[in-house]
Amino acid sequence: MPESLVEVRDLCFARRQGGHVQQILRNLTLELAAGEVVVLTGPSGSGKSTLLTIAGGLRSATEGSVRVLGTEVVNSRERDRVALRRRIGFIFQQHNLAPALTVAQNIQMGLQLSGDHRRKDAKQRIQQAAEAIGLGAHLHKLPRQLSGGQQQRAGIARALINEPKLVLADEPTASLDRTSGELVVGLFNQLAASGSAVVLVTHDKRIIEQADRILMMEEGVLVPAADRIMKDVSGSLRALSGIDPKRLGRMMSFGHALARVALADGKVDNDERQAIADALRARKLFSGAEIELIVDLALAQAQAWEVTSNSSAEREDLAAALEAVAAADSVVSDAERAVIAELLGRR
Ligand code: ADP
Ligand code: MG
Repeated sequence: MPESLVEVRDLCFARRQGGHVQQILRNLTLELAAGEVVVLTGPSGSGKSTLLTIAGGLRSATEGSVRVLGTEVVNSRERDRVALRRRIGFIFQQHNLAPALTVAQNIQMGLQLSGDHRRKDAKQRIQQAAEAIGLGAHLHKLPRQLSGGQQQRAGIARALINEPKLVLADEPTASLDRTSGELVVGLFNQLAASGSAVVLVTHDKRIIEQADRILMMEEGVLVPAADRIMKDVSGSLRALSGIDPKRLGRMMSFGHALARVALADGKVDNDERQAIADALRARKLFSGAEIELIVDLALAQAQAWEVTSNSSAEREDLAAALEAVAAADSVVSDAERAVIAELLGRR
């Protein structure tokens, strides 16, 4: 089991404004392990930044428990939180560079936090950190001589130079172009591979796809993974059927039939998966990611069906449900009987 770096239990956080109390985080529980890059996503105002600032010891909370790198931050003393902050790499949307210092000096501030700046190789490390993020040629510039994206990258280099055990990044790629965004995610992955954990708030689909795990927050609570996936799937399905329900229907029946055959021997390997996708693609009704979605749905559906049809209790339950649906209009027609027989007859 990888070491757990963050453990949040029943965290609540409220904000008092004028007369009323706004509940921002509600009974939040989550855990982050060494080696993970976790994306935290969700609508604006759902509490993502609040959670990050509490976990980072930048804001104090009084209800629940939040253990970060071995330090309890709920009801903690300011000086414990200060000590903790030095061990965390923070990246904010606002880069917070010191305007009078050069890029090199700003990055050096990251080293000073850990007392590492006296090491002989400090200069070399700063150079390397800048190069890794594409700022090698800008070390002697002041922040105002850089573009917004370059400033953001300097802030990231400063946060990562200590190779912190935990990185908390709040929309770090918002002002970056695609290439720089990929560079930054690459650095996060490297750090995770060496045993750190990274929490990354983002709405960028390309980045979300690369995460080890996705947490979605809504109104101060984490949405369970299954709900989130179903929301994605039903959203995608609506989008597909918006294109043309007939085409979709044809592809879904094709996909389902192909998936059942592929699954008949108990598992689907990559070649079979590829063959299903190719067969669907050959119909020229959908392409690219649409095909991938249909293959995934078909396989999931076929797999679920296998589970149902292989358990006699499940089959009895299914039979009862099928009959109830058939009888719902008060007559069970021959056509309905035929479909029920077909569904139950297949194994
Ligand atoms: P997110 O990062 O998911 O967009 P936040 O954690 O920033 O969400 O905000 C959560 C809630 O706290 C929101 O309802 C927001 O209006 C409120 N909030 C955040 N910061 C402040 C503030 N400085 N003053 C008052 N309310 C705030
Ligand atoms: Mg935010």
